[in-house]
Amino acid sequence: MKDISCKLLVIGAGPGGYVCAIRAGQLGIDTVIVEAGKPGGTCLNVGCIPSKALIHAAEEYDRIVHLANGRNSLGIRTTKPELDLSQTIVWKDGIVGRLNSGVSGLLKKAKVKIVQGRARFRDGKTVEVETETGRQIIHAENVVIATGSAPVELPNLPFGGFVISSTEALALTSVPERLVVVGGGYIGLELGTAFAKMGAKVSVVEAQTRILPQYDAELTRPVAKRLQALGIEVMTGAKAKGLAKAGGTLLIEAEDGSEKSLAADKILVTVGRKPVTQGCGLDELVLDMDGPFIRIDERCRTSMRGIYAIGDVTGEPMLAHRAMAQGEMVAEIVAGHKRAWDKRGIPAICFTDPEIVTVGLSPEDARRTDVDVKIGQFPYSANGRAMTKMGEDGFVRVVARADNHLVLGIQAVGQGVSELAAAFGLALEMGTRLEDIAGTIHAHPTQGEAFQEAALKALGQELHI
Ligand SMILES: Cc1cc2nc3c(=O)[nH]c(=O)nc-3n(C[C@H](O)[C@H](O)[C@H](O)COP(=O)(O)OP(=O)(O)OC[C@H]3O[C@@H](n4cnc5c(N)ncnc54)[C@H](O)[C@@H]3O)c2cc1C
Repeated sequence: MKDISCKLLVIGAGPGGYVCAIRAGQLGIDTVIVEAGKPGGTCLNVGCIPSKALIHAAEEYDRIVHLANGRNSLGIRTTKPELDLSQTIVWKDGIVGRLNSGVSGLLKKAKVKIVQGRARFRDGKTVEVETETGRQIIHAENVVIATGSAPVELPNLPFGGFVISSTEALALTSVPERLVVVGGGYIGLELGTAFAKMGAKVSVVEAQTRILPQYDAELTRPVAKRLQALGIEVMTGAKAKGLAKAGGTLLIEAEDGSEKSLAADKILVTVGRKPVTQGCGLDELVLDMDGPFIRIDERCRTSMRGIYAIGDVTGEPMLAHRAMAQGEMVAEIVAGHKRAWDKRGIPAICFTDPEIVTVGLSPEDARRTDVDVKIGQFPYSANGRAMTKMGEDGFVRVVARADNHLVLGIQAVGQGVSELAAAFGLALEMGTRLEDIAGTIHAHPTQGEAFQEAALKALGQELHI
């Protein structure tokens, strides 16, 4: 097979890699992308998209089950629905398939050459790829490592049999009767909630003292309340110890030190994700590391000239939109543009029930800085649109500097608040002050009005509370 030479080689076609390659192609850079699996990476194939599809199906099903359960205040009468999860999975796979083709089409449109296979570094400028038709050697002036991340395995609960990762959970064709989720982070809770809505008896085992430990307790409280209402048992301060000899039972050490056992048909382990740095010949390079991640600077440059790294392989926050923003930036840097990472915030969303969205500093983070802060919070119980959607649990909170009212962070918890991430992100990125949000006409009746009211509250000018 004839060697390929290019200006830019991207390894991995997840959100980081494919965006980098598309932008590079648009800028006229001779670009090759290598992908071992399917275009779109974790996000499109076994992450963001399929999980949100499953969550949507579970929500729809649960809504009808709820309506069918006797009299409801909406006045809707219906009979109990049935769920055919195998059909749901066919629908979900259809969406994934369409997006796979979409990414391939966009890469082709940008004149990016796609090589299918696993890439392995020979040296900093040469990569070999095992393809179906033989070994392909690629020489590149610049290389972007965008190899992403994989689920963390617990040594005492290795994946296999009924111990599954999020990847297998997203492909189950029947709802397990009893599902134990080990790890109460966003992935475990999103999937655990979906399966509970689909009829599984779900238990969550979390080693820390509360669920979603990276978010402040006030934000997570409505989620904890809803988990309880859905009948999900949450065991905090509890550690998974391994499987009982008989199988089908998870042994745990409870908060008080006692040993307990939980019967399970599936055990979903979601205790984090690790960067994919093995198996691609990184040991042939001398890259500085930051713990398990590849160390990068504000231009995503690694310690080797001409080698960049983007996305999950470079550390937290491991989010698709961070990977995409890095990818776009690196393509422009390779094209000679003057770019550096100067983002003020990266929104993060938990698609739990209710949803959580955060961008910028939490009140606690802000108080740790030297400046005095003002905080305005507006509850959804006082928002007309939330009432009409029966989603009154939650709030929007704005954190700002006390002296000049510059907004430092925005958080919300509530039904459907994920869509407010755009407004929150824009506000932070534009360097808005409380007065800018308070002085913007927000359409009525919308949940977004709570954003304006939170800013008004921080200014001591609240109108609707
Ligand atoms: C269940 C779940 C839900 C999630 N939900 C969200 C969400 O709602 N929002 C969000 O922002 N993020 C979410 N994430 C995280 C998101 O998927 C990742 O942050 C994102 O995919 C990272 O993109 P990436 O480009 O860095 O890597 P990845 O998407 O992991 O892509 C890396 C690609 O590189 C390929 N690759 C690796 N090694 C090689 C090699 N040697 N040669 C060739 N190819 C290689 C892999 O096959 C893979 O396709 C979720 C993750 C999971 C698991």
